[in-house]
Amino acid sequence: MREVDERQKERKCLSEELAAQGIRDKMVLESICTVPRHMFVSPELADYAYYDAPLSIGQGQTISQPFIVALMLEAMLPSRADRVLEIGTGSGYAAAVLSHLVHRVYTIERHAELAKEAYARFASLQYDNITVRVGDGTKGWLEESPFDGIIVAAAGPTIPKSLKEQLAVGGRLVIPIGEEGQQKLMRVYRSSSEEFLEETLCHVRFVPLIGEEGWAEKMRS
Ligand code: SAH
Repeated sequence: MREVDERQKERKCLSEELAAQGIRDKMVLESICTVPRHMFVSPELADYAYYDAPLSIGQGQTISQPFIVALMLEAMLPSRADRVLEIGTGSGYAAAVLSHLVHRVYTIERHAELAKEAYARFASLQYDNITVRVGDGTKGWLEESPFDGIIVAAAGPTIPKSLKEQLAVGGRLVIPIGEEGQQKLMRVYRSSSEEFLEETLCHVRFVPLIGEEGWAEKMRS
């Protein structure tokens, strides 16, 4: 077994808390119960790893709140055979949760240092169906496309055209859109090669998506 058993009880509590808050997908809840979130944060923050809260991971970025990870994964409607692209690897936690639900995960992070740390975690925890790359995720990952699902862990100004184009027919893209303080989580469903159905799911709070089809880079992000 690749999972670490310590802190299992805390993970179980967290998953029950998420279920009480409305997460229905049993597989998502089970995966939250399995992934050792304390190993995706720095040792100083490990005590807080099973609180339903975002935590700092360096480079001005955060590991998303477990509820938001669960909500986004559930909204993407994951299925066993799916190949899924994640933009914004960060700590690697969401990719690890996702890796239990689908066939293969491709994840892109713009900060080389974070990507390197996430890669090391995947290797040591033996998550061997995750591939990490450093780069601008707003342009997707053309060589590996099309994807059955795309999850974006940072909020952009508009839905990147490249990501829509890299969705398979029947594929689902889940992405927060909008400026700080007024972001909405959106789901785009590709119903045919030409048709995309967009729906707004709820209000959310994410770090900015920086890149060619995202926000322009400012001084510190
Ligand atoms: N899924 C992560 C959450 C990370 S927060 C986790 O579970 O820890 C969002 C991440 O998106 C940050 O690490 C940020 O650096 C990254 N990011 C922002 N814009 C990006 C872009 N254009 N391409 C790739 N990563 C990006």
